Amino acid sequence: MKNTVLNQAPLPVFSTLTLAQIEPTLKEMLAQHRAELGTLLQNAVPPTWENLILPLEQSSNQLNKMWSPVSHLHAVMESEELRAIYNACLPLLTEYHTEMMQNETLYQAVKSIAESAEFKSFTPTQCKAIENELRDFRLAGVSLSSDAKTRFAELQKKLSKLCTQFSENLLDATQGWTLLVTDVNRLKGLPQSTLDIAQEAAEQHGKKGWELTLDYPCYSMAIKYLENRELRRQMYEAYVTRASEQGPQAKRWDNSQIMEDIVKIRCELAKLLGFASFAEYSLATKMAKTPERVLTFLHDLVAKSKMFAEKEMQELTQFAESQDGIEQLEAWDLGYYTEKLRIAKYAVSQEELRAYFPANKVLAGMFTVMGRLFGIKMVERTDVDTWHPQVQFFEIYDGDNQLRGYFYTDLYARKHKRDGAWMDECRVRQMLPDGTVQYPVAFLTCNFTRPIGDKPARLTHDEVQTVFHEFGHCLHHLLTQVNFSSLSGINGVPWDAVEFPSQFFEFWCWDKETLALMTAHETTGESLPDALYDKLLAAKNFQSGMHMLRQLEFALFDFRLHLEFDPAKGPQVQHMLDEVRAEVAVVPTPKFNRFQHSFSHIFSGGYAAGYYSYKWAEVLSSDAFSRFEEKGIFDRESGRAYLHNILEQGGVYDPMDLFIAFRGREPKIDALLRHSGLV
Ligand code: ZN
Repeated sequence: MKNTVLNQAPLPVFSTLTLAQIEPTLKEMLAQHRAELGTLLQNAVPPTWENLILPLEQSSNQLNKMWSPVSHLHAVMESEELRAIYNACLPLLTEYHTEMMQNETLYQAVKSIAESAEFKSFTPTQCKAIENELRDFRLAGVSLSSDAKTRFAELQKKLSKLCTQFSENLLDATQGWTLLVTDVNRLKGLPQSTLDIAQEAAEQHGKKGWELTLDYPCYSMAIKYLENRELRRQMYEAYVTRASEQGPQAKRWDNSQIMEDIVKIRCELAKLLGFASFAEYSLATKMAKTPERVLTFLHDLVAKSKMFAEKEMQELTQFAESQDGIEQLEAWDLGYYTEKLRIAKYAVSQEELRAYFPANKVLAGMFTVMGRLFGIKMVERTDVDTWHPQVQFFEIYDGDNQLRGYFYTDLYARKHKRDGAWMDECRVRQMLPDGTVQYPVAFLTCNFTRPIGDKPARLTHDEVQTVFHEFGHCLHHLLTQVNFSSLSGINGVPWDAVEFPSQFFEFWCWDKETLALMTAHETTGESLPDALYDKLLAAKNFQSGMHMLRQLEFALFDFRLHLEFDPAKGPQVQHMLDEVRAEVAVVPTPKFNRFQHSFSHIFSGGYAAGYYSYKWAEVLSSDAFSRFEEKGIFDRESGRAYLHNILEQGGVYDPMDLFIAFRGREPKIDALLRHSGLV
């Protein structure tokens, strides 16, 4: 049975994907869909679920299936050719979506289904699908005058171009800077694994020495461990001025104007639709309903954590002074002395922990944990085509041995791969016209230090948390039981609830039993010793006040920027960030810092006026986890309840209702503060 399903839904072929075919294929598909839509609207009299909604969902599924491998490759295997094709295709897609969502006839047809007698007998999935559809039509400006509609479409196209440009500038700026060091003494403090990579990078460019880069694995190690303060400053400056008018690559890939334009266009779009700001527009699809609610939530957390953060900063400042006589603690010293202080206080470093976490064992241990919680099983397959030799492919089975989906893992940093860690959809669970189910497929992407030579890759504990986080997104996407793609998995889930499952799973990285399953020391093979575990736990909330404030700074900057933007006032991005920092920050920021120029979450990702979602969802995940603290960390009953009430439900129900179904009450902030040690 497994095999038949597999045959019905062949997986994308990456290795032989013909780039030249992408654009013509897409154009042909769009033309066909446009023609089909015309026929559907003509024949659907009166419009029903079967004669209109289902066929439309199938077309959109077909389109996603074609596009998602392309968009994924653009993110992880970029080439000049692919970038050009991607940029040529993106406006076609945007145009098509805008056109669909502004189709008045289609809107009226969907509306008439909502008003029909049939609607009263709809399932919750059907009702929600229609409601979302109508909401999205309104948000897309379907009821605008024809002039306003044209303007709206123009703005959306511009916006999508600007967002792509933003991330291209960032990628180019990140890769555009390298620093060759020929005297190894200057690199004192750097872990051997980073030195090896730097040496290999230099060799690849036919040079002798060590090449430092702004790729995150190299930069994060350098800023934490380089003893040479001047070198740290140099790297810090290069990193925080990427894609800006400051620093060593000033104005070369400058995002300044792009950001201003993005915010301006978003504001105009929101106003065209009758919203007071883009922030209000953003909240129309979120769990937190009003700007006041978001601002109160964030300011409340600032108030509860600032005192802790100030104390932590004071401790750090004194430590740096006592260690090295540092009179003025600078931004490029923070990571370095933080790591030193962590070791002094808890005698545990991320690098020391790395020896215990071989990547393969971490994955295997994580799978065991998920198996105990949900009865699921992951099976690796090696006969599946992928885009890179380091990519692995897995099947996922539930407790009844039923196939539920597939996922690819691509864990290591390399050139032409976008920074960071994320989960993306390759396929979405969907009932196909022949009555079979298309299984969901996920991409799990990280940027860890890759294996060097024949040594297996090893992760820091931070990286282990990242894997759990992204795998949480994968499970949400893969374990869904909803057979309608716009509501299955993470689809239709409000942004501020999307991080709930991912952050929830991070808690298991701190559990002793779980850690025993994932650890084996590189020479002795022993699992994480108790003494080290105790230190790890003691260090868990180290500087958590500062960490909390940093997140709140980003969240407030993002939210207020999109709430208060006024086109009459001219450029406002830097000004807003300065204002938020004055209220929130306890750490020094040099004048040249241009963090915002690389803030992809809000300028090229989906988090605009929604970065607060991380904290919002953390309240949900902390509170949900506290049920496992009460009942036992592997409590099967709670695991089953989480699976059925959260992971399987997709976007069909309000997340608040789902949370209450799982926890028996509304979420409270207490567990988050307790878990962060801020009480
Ligand atoms: Zn996430």
